[in-house]
Amino acid sequence: MSDRYQEFANSALGKLVIKNLGLPMPLELERFDPNKPLINGAVLLGAAPGSTLGGPISDVLNTVHADTYAGNHAALQQAAAKVGLNLRPYNSGDKESRFKVMIFDASGIQNSEQLVELFNFYSPVARQLLPNGRVIVIGRTPELCSNPKMATAQRALEGFVKSVGKEFKKASTAQLIYVAEGAEANLESTLRFFASAKSAYVSGQVVRVSAGATQKIDWNAPLAGKTALVTGASRGIGEAIARTLARDGAQVICLDVPAQEADLQRVAGEIGGLVLPLDITASDAGQKIAEFANAESQSKGLDVVVHNAGITRDKTLANMKDQQWNLVMNINLSSEERINDTLLAEGALNANARIVCVSSISGIAGNLGQTNYATSKAGVIGMVHSVAPTLANGVTINAVAPGFIETQMTAAIPLGIREAGRRMNSMSQGGQPVDVAEAIAWFASPASGGLNGNVVRVCGQSLLGA
Ligand code: NAP
Repeated sequence: MSDRYQEFANSALGKLVIKNLGLPMPLELERFDPNKPLINGAVLLGAAPGSTLGGPISDVLNTVHADTYAGNHAALQQAAAKVGLNLRPYNSGDKESRFKVMIFDASGIQNSEQLVELFNFYSPVARQLLPNGRVIVIGRTPELCSNPKMATAQRALEGFVKSVGKEFKKASTAQLIYVAEGAEANLESTLRFFASAKSAYVSGQVVRVSAGATQKIDWNAPLAGKTALVTGASRGIGEAIARTLARDGAQVICLDVPAQEADLQRVAGEIGGLVLPLDITASDAGQKIAEFANAESQSKGLDVVVHNAGITRDKTLANMKDQQWNLVMNINLSSEERINDTLLAEGALNANARIVCVSSISGIAGNLGQTNYATSKAGVIGMVHSVAPTLANGVTINAVAPGFIETQMTAAIPLGIREAGRRMNSMSQGGQPVDVAEAIAWFASPASGGLNGNVVRVCGQSLLGA
């Protein structure tokens, strides 16, 4: 569905009106284009004294051929030289340079007094971030810091990043990555995602990178040779997920209810995928998926499972019928639990498989008329947190929580609420299905073995539940 306000705001007349009335300005978001560099502009790198992540960060920047600058910082220069990154000098008095990405290694911050290092790095260059820019702060996981003063200071980074996300505007994003000691080699997939246009509609998020088996991959085809199951793949977000995982090289098993088989055939046909018409609430759904993957897929099992199928049946609690409660709970949560249990019990998940669930900001913030939906989507988050530590064999589970995404589901929302949903976020617009799909592809990557139990919102930093 088209966003008429955004179209008007980006016209010559619209720009004038919007500026004079101080209305929200939804800039067009830059999205991933394989024909452009992953980081499409200069990177400014900084670090607090005593930080230890300069090496892994430089390594990633070197691999993606980023045009990287830093002020006079001996430790960073040494770390960069070690991995062969050409760190160009940046003079702090220079107000003309513009940067696409500003990365700060905060891992050396030991106490609250040292948080001023964040201010010292970002404040002088705050006006020099390009539109669609990226602010990335990298620290140490607070819960794993043995010193309470350091844990406190590291936790404080969250407030900084979330405020920058709201303040910098012009479609820029701000994220915080916590890296556990010993998990430095697992930083790459997350840094690539957050520094690139793939994370266009993700902002104000906190990700924990832990130790875990991460495989070396071809970054242009990270899922080559892998088989991915996507539920609800006939349209909307599910269709975008299927297309994105196929772009990344996966053979995709496209699943949807039998009534959607024609659309399912269309999507699968266009991406060279397989078709599995199936209702996920069937008691033997997990068994059927396992048998199908074993018999039909190239990898004789599943490497990626995306639980995307979901429904709403909105009513206030007083007006809700029991079947509206039961159906939503069964499709959005219970069937996912049953399918996971069966796939794990049957050994249908290959080593290092990725389970990625689709929650919702409704499950984080709650929503009027959505007691059933919000309960089911909060349950998805609970499932991710509780199942993650139980998984073995390199298998991981994570979730995305979309905000307002332009699909049939949101087109059905009454106009007033729809407009509020679109504007009440740092991007002043709804996201596209591909924005959710890119976040899922990042979790699904064999290089994301250090991500387990994370929930990332794809909501343009919606005010709801923030
Ligand atoms: P959608 O356009 O309604 O697509 C969902 C698909 O799942 C439909 O094809 C649907 O088929 C299918 N499905 C429903 N029940 C099923 C079942 N029992 N077995 C197999 N397939 C089933 O929804 P969407 O907007 O793309 O949303 C996808 C996911 O994102 C959902 O989990 C949703 O809750 C979540 N989400 C969406 C938004 C948003 O803004 N759009 C925001 C937050 C979260 P039918 O034709 O039978 O319905």
